[in-house]
Amino acid sequence: MNAINKRVLVQGIVQGVGFRPTVYSYAQKLGLTGWILNSAHGVEIEVHGELAQVDAFLHELRTKPPQMAQIDTFLVSDVATNPYGSFQILASQDNPHDFLPVSPDLDVCPDCLRELFDPANRRHRYPFINCTNCGPRFSIVKSIPYDRPNTSMSAFPLCPDCAKEYHDPADRRFHAQPIACPVCGPQVWLQSTEEKFATGEDAIQLTRQMLTDGKILALKGLGGFHLACDAQNEHAVTELRLRKRRSMKPFALMSNGLETIRNFAQVSAEEEKMLLSIQKPIVVLNLTEAGKKLADIVAPDQNTLGFMLPYTPLHYLLLEKEINYPEVLVMTSGNLSEEPIVTENEEALEKLQGIADAFLMHNRPIETRIDDSVLTTVANKPYFIRRARSFAPSPIRLPFFTTQALAAGTHLKNTFALSRENYAFLSHHIGDLENEETLTAYTKAINHYQQIFRIQPKLFAADLHPDYLATRYAMERAEKEQLPIMHIQHHHAHISSCLADNGWKNDDLVIGLAFDGTGYGSDGAIWGGEVLLANYSGFERRFQLDYAPLPGGDVSIRKPARLALAYLHHLGLLDQAEGLAPYLYLNEIERQVLIHQVETGFNTPQTSSMGRLFDAVAALIGLYQEINYEAQNAISLEAIADPDEIAAYELPIQGSRILLKPLFEQILADLRQNLPQSAISARFHNAINHLALKVSDQLRTETGVNTVAISGGVWQNRRLINNIIPALQKAGFTPLWHHQVPTNDGGVALGQLMTALFQTGMLKE
Ligand SMILES: [Zn+2]
Ligand SMILES: [Zn+2]
Repeated sequence: MNAINKRVLVQGIVQGVGFRPTVYSYAQKLGLTGWILNSAHGVEIEVHGELAQVDAFLHELRTKPPQMAQIDTFLVSDVATNPYGSFQILASQDNPHDFLPVSPDLDVCPDCLRELFDPANRRHRYPFINCTNCGPRFSIVKSIPYDRPNTSMSAFPLCPDCAKEYHDPADRRFHAQPIACPVCGPQVWLQSTEEKFATGEDAIQLTRQMLTDGKILALKGLGGFHLACDAQNEHAVTELRLRKRRSMKPFALMSNGLETIRNFAQVSAEEEKMLLSIQKPIVVLNLTEAGKKLADIVAPDQNTLGFMLPYTPLHYLLLEKEINYPEVLVMTSGNLSEEPIVTENEEALEKLQGIADAFLMHNRPIETRIDDSVLTTVANKPYFIRRARSFAPSPIRLPFFTTQALAAGTHLKNTFALSRENYAFLSHHIGDLENEETLTAYTKAINHYQQIFRIQPKLFAADLHPDYLATRYAMERAEKEQLPIMHIQHHHAHISSCLADNGWKNDDLVIGLAFDGTGYGSDGAIWGGEVLLANYSGFERRFQLDYAPLPGGDVSIRKPARLALAYLHHLGLLDQAEGLAPYLYLNEIERQVLIHQVETGFNTPQTSSMGRLFDAVAALIGLYQEINYEAQNAISLEAIADPDEIAAYELPIQGSRILLKPLFEQILADLRQNLPQSAISARFHNAINHLALKVSDQLRTETGVNTVAISGGVWQNRRLINNIIPALQKAGFTPLWHHQVPTNDGGVALGQLMTALFQTGMLKE
């Protein structure tokens, strides 16, 4: 007999993902004794047995961990031989100074899905079925440690059958905190604002019938309410738009299966992987001919649609395939425009009463409001548009050890970021910090993250803009807590974010292509078309789009007709505007006021924004003169661009300024020649790509820097990003782009955090 003892420490996302039952079954199978426990360090294991068996155990655990686990560290050490009578699961240990990553919410696992549709199973058609491998996590966590009393399941005592599963180490539901069954768990019901129509299975069937009949339903989901209707029922979708006062913005869709999605959209292997992944995000897909017809209804002017597959048992039941029932549902956030998604039943009845015909409710409270995540692919890899459900709060691993800090994020598409050890916790998408409701959600979320990850910031980072609500929040806290605060320029933060996203390990310089909508510049102007020479610590602005006027600020962002004319006037080209769309859109008086404003500079900031250039060009060639959602003109401009057009406009550079006049002259000439919009758009897109390559080349010649970091909202444009990566690679550059956080403002907080830590020397290693 040659018995040995080994101690194993496993770190990462290892709790609440079925680690203990898996380890228990491996140990039983190999006849090992010892113990496992959840501690604040992760999972700690000690095994005792024959050398060969212990080795087999370690091999099995390394190669076949529970499928939801995300292992960062796997440390094995020798300990004194200490035989045990059996293998046991010991009570959790909690050290109040340590932290544990909390698992994000997960889709239904295959085992639970089978049981859901198995008439012999006691959870047959039960909409809250889950196990240690699947189901709600982050959205129901109130506090740590992750145990049932600290979740919103605390109100549902386990029935004897569920309790037996919960306490059986060999069971798939051993210590699965959210487990429930029809006897003891949450229930669904369907109601109007006045009366309850049905409960349980009847409620689900009646909901299906109402959706089939073209009604609009408010559905309580995992992270909040959705508003749903049959996506192929034009009348229902139009009605939803009217009631939600959302005239053009595309709706997200949920379909009953991958095959159905394929009818409407092209699905690449990588996109299929994302659609079917355990995170079940919304994936933005190119359309087929049938898809274009669907888009006319749900996403006007788009050549893409955002599809997702069901991700809760309730979704699977609602979208069960059956003839004459909807196969694709609109699933849009249940909110009033601009406000956070509704999570509470009472709130839903109050806020969505004019929108929804009925409410499919349940009584499992949502602790953290969380939207669906949105992804696309770039260079055959996932590329985030919105990082939320099923991704947050998974931390981003940093190549450094950090002091605990909070980066407040920015104004639009806000997320915040907290650092601890070698992790950055980038929050889920919070939204535009423009109203009281979103600000409340923001501060609540910060408190929640600080509490569950045990982070007490010693440093704050915020945007340069003094009036952003996020900046003010950080400034108030810094003052109250007497801690340092660093203000980080928006586009520098974008580039830092891209570096951290790529695990950039040093403070070497890179070329930064920050092409974006709006960010407050160091000179008080509105930046957004910036070419930086930057590292985490600092930046130099080496090239910029030449300044142009933004008369009335936001007014011109909403009315790109004003932008187009203001640019033309500023460039001395207004005499050529007569008869063009923006000219015709504004009346004589509006035009005169606008020109006066540009000339006097009254309430007219200067901007180098790339996003505004897209808006102005789109308006000039006759797309929208007034928009009703952010980036509408840029998205439309991208959608119409002729994929085969290779000509490009010139964007000459003078010193550090990228000149706009020649660009507008060429566009005006092409308009006079009646060149189609699709060709003009393509030539404009090509011009931006040529520009990106040219400035990178010039900077490389001057500095020898060969790495190009690509960040900013404009890079959501798939034509631009998909062209620039191979173009840079072909020219011998190393391009870095985003993989784990959005390229838009949803990723800025990560960059703020890194730059503030670097600038204050608060990195540990
Ligand atoms: Zn499961
Ligand atoms: Zn039960």
